[in-house]
Amino acid sequence: MNIQVENPVIEVHNLSVSYNRKPALWNIDFSLPYHKKIGIIGPNGSGKTTLLKTLMGLIKPDFGYVKLFGQSLNSIRHKIAYVPQRESVDWDFPATVREIVEMGRFTNKNLLKRLNKRDKELISESLEKVGMLPFQHRHISELSGGQQQRVFLARALCREPEMFIMDEPFTGVDAATEESILELLDTLNKEGKTVIVVHHDLETAKDYFDWVCLLNTRLVANGPKGQVFTKDVLSEAFGGKLTLLSKLAQEVQGGDYPLREK
Ligand code: ADP
Ligand code: MG
Repeated sequence: MNIQVENPVIEVHNLSVSYNRKPALWNIDFSLPYHKKIGIIGPNGSGKTTLLKTLMGLIKPDFGYVKLFGQSLNSIRHKIAYVPQRESVDWDFPATVREIVEMGRFTNKNLLKRLNKRDKELISESLEKVGMLPFQHRHISELSGGQQQRVFLARALCREPEMFIMDEPFTGVDAATEESILELLDTLNKEGKTVIVVHHDLETAKDYFDWVCLLNTRLVANGPKGQVFTKDVLSEAFGGKLTLLSKLAQEVQGGDYPLREK
């Protein structure tokens, strides 16, 4: 199951990436559509973060290439906001909440510019949207996991990107943060943005996303949720835990989760 997309927002061609000759991604080939909530799903160690880093040009592939918006990364970098995995960040870094969000307004081209009135408004609006404005002068080490994730989201929002790429935003956050991230994904999706979210849980994925890409070093499946979450595809992909998986497929096929295909 690998649904071909006409006019894709992301194309991955024959991509292989390894660390010290051990493959993390093996011969991956797929494309993703515009304007969807897309989940990149796979167990720990399945290469999800590696895929995102390769998309962002942070890792050089052994083989193959990626294209975003039909172009190479450098010309379209400003259209993308990347939200890294929270655990990968040094939260003792001496900065306040607002300072972290300000970074979102700097790009490679204007690293030395001063923030203008519009920048400052955007920063405040973004903090407001994630409920972190009251905490703007707090040091980032004093935040809970959920609050740290919200700060990252505010930094992404104030870039005003066309596409969001987020690495496990739901991991280690409280229920209220999870709910507000889900609302944010919906809002962004309705505004016509493309949202790509790495997530490790198959069961919640069926509620969160409308397109899913299942990864396990190799590509397992890629397509609209309703086509991927079928008993056949899931059992071919995962074999073993069939009871849970067929229940999942049943729930998705049962119409509880309407597909929003255009
Ligand atoms: P995921 O995000 O799905 O948990 P990763 O992309 O982080 O998976 O990792 C995929 C594989 O690559 C794992 O086996 C991991 O141990 C390995 N790996 C990831 N980063 C590095 C690194 N910097 N050096 C060596 N191996 C790595
Ligand atoms: Mg990861």
